[in-house]
Amino acid sequence: SPIPDYLAEVLDNCGADSGERADHIPQLAAADPDLLGVAVATVSGSLYTAGDTDVEVSIQSVSKPFVYALALCDLGTDAVDAKIDVEPSGDAFNEISLDPRTGRPSNPMINAGAIAANGLVTGNDPGHRFERVLDFVSRLAGRQLVVDEEVYESEMSQVYRNRALANLLRSHDIVSGDPEDALRGYIRQCSILVNCKDLAMMAATLASGGVHPISGERVVGAQVNRRVLSVMTTCGMYDAAGDWMTNVGIPAKSGVSGVLIGALPGQVGVASFSPRLDPHGNSVRGVRIFERLSEDMGMHMMEPP
Ligand code: GLN
Repeated sequence: SPIPDYLAEVLDNCGADSGERADHIPQLAAADPDLLGVAVATVSGSLYTAGDTDVEVSIQSVSKPFVYALALCDLGTDAVDAKIDVEPSGDAFNEISLDPRTGRPSNPMINAGAIAANGLVTGNDPGHRFERVLDFVSRLAGRQLVVDEEVYESEMSQVYRNRALANLLRSHDIVSGDPEDALRGYIRQCSILVNCKDLAMMAATLASGGVHPISGERVVGAQVNRRVLSVMTTCGMYDAAGDWMTNVGIPAKSGVSGVLIGALPGQVGVASFSPRLDPHGNSVRGVRIFERLSEDMGMHMMEPP
């Protein structure tokens, strides 16, 4: 297949790198900044890769759509909607973006909404709730994933802002019980280790309506899957969502470790990895890779078939 050669060429020509590694998580600030990889998984189960696609890295905010999906599966749309809105905030990922009256976060892709979504996942206790998160994300990846405890501890050592968000959410009863549980659960979900191949399979599962392309398992219900892709489209790239939608044109989600996923419904899941970030917290070279793929393969959703 000529596809791996094409992907290698895309990596070679994705431009001079710029930007900075995330500095609010010490472990990420120390990552090798030159790592670069891309993986494309089709809904029929083919996987194509180039570059550093076996390197494991913490999933960070790319976990958000999946934990939101799990909360929706557990509680249903109405119960989740009562706690988390689906409106783009146009704000940065860590903005204190809560409705002034109800305290409801604008959407589940920013930290406030993601902490709330973690708190909604069903379970007997925090340990069981996290087991369910890890199991769900593992089924999407198609293999058993693990948590990077060093990344978890590293982020917990500097977690002041997210802790403030968790406490605000508790004060509005968006999070119930001990807000520390939702906070820890959220930081743990961000610390799950994945590589580009895992991420491409996870994105391809969303692209195929919630059915894993290789295992054939329905992991996400069709209605929930559609909702998650919709929210990724409007909110997945934070305050760069409009720019992304016009240039690339597919549902996507970025994470501060430098990972980025995109899902074109009915077609492919794509994942890239490059640690240096732009001011929005999106991978600089990742965005360029997606712009290129979208252009070359006609992936923009607004392009007539
Ligand atoms: N764990 C990170 C944080 O809360 C995730 C943010 C991100 O990836 N955008 O800061």
